[in-house]
Amino acid sequence: MRIVLLGIPGAGKGTQAHRLADRFGLALVATGDIFRANVQDQTDLGLLAKQYMDSGELVPDDVVVRMVVDALDQHPGGFILDGFPRTIPQAEALEQDLSSRSRPLSTALAFDLPDHIAIKRLAGRRTCQRCQRTYNVEFYPPKVEGVCDACGGVLVHRDDDRKETVRHRLEVYYGSTFPLWDYYRERGLLRVVDADGTEDEVTERAVRALSDVPSGQ
Ligand code: AMP
Repeated sequence: MRIVLLGIPGAGKGTQAHRLADRFGLALVATGDIFRANVQDQTDLGLLAKQYMDSGELVPDDVVVRMVVDALDQHPGGFILDGFPRTIPQAEALEQDLSSRSRPLSTALAFDLPDHIAIKRLAGRRTCQRCQRTYNVEFYPPKVEGVCDACGGVLVHRDDDRKETVRHRLEVYYGSTFPLWDYYRERGLLRVVDADGTEDEVTERAVRALSDVPSGQ
């Protein structure tokens, strides 16, 4: 299966991406995670991306596309893309690249969540600096405050999860990314999942939405 995930920031794409990748044995390519790792390692890519990420802007298309194409080179089997594409030009570049490899997308799974719930989730979200797992101080707290249950890493409130930046990220989402729902709908690839529920409930809905996608496709 070759899947892209769509949905507003806070819809739970990252969490569900990990779960679905485990469940179906797919490689996970999460562009935000790759950028954050580069920021932490202070690479040239990280220094460039940070300027955009901190203000909730998108990293330029050519930079992201090159990064994703390189990542897909390393994963010849099935994959889940989390956080990409985020613009129509990115979707077109992906379509072209996959078609040149005769590996067309199987589906675009879109997580549907009202803005006010997404905003509440992001305000309480804490992310592990080491393994990127996310928690929520209100809905899904870690066992020990500030410490990742899974790896013991430090949990941080991402700069771009702060209130002022979240508002801008939502504007960017509706301006640049939401049109992708129609882009994939027109290609018969869009499947919408209700993302308002517990992590387990949403995973079940996503698995059901994928149930008729042949695993070889
Ligand atoms: P995420 O973890 O997916 O919310 O991504 C965090 C930030 O990384 C975004 O707000 C963007 O600044 C940048 N980013 C991640 N993926 C992309 C993409 N496909 N296109 C442009 N910027 C991206």
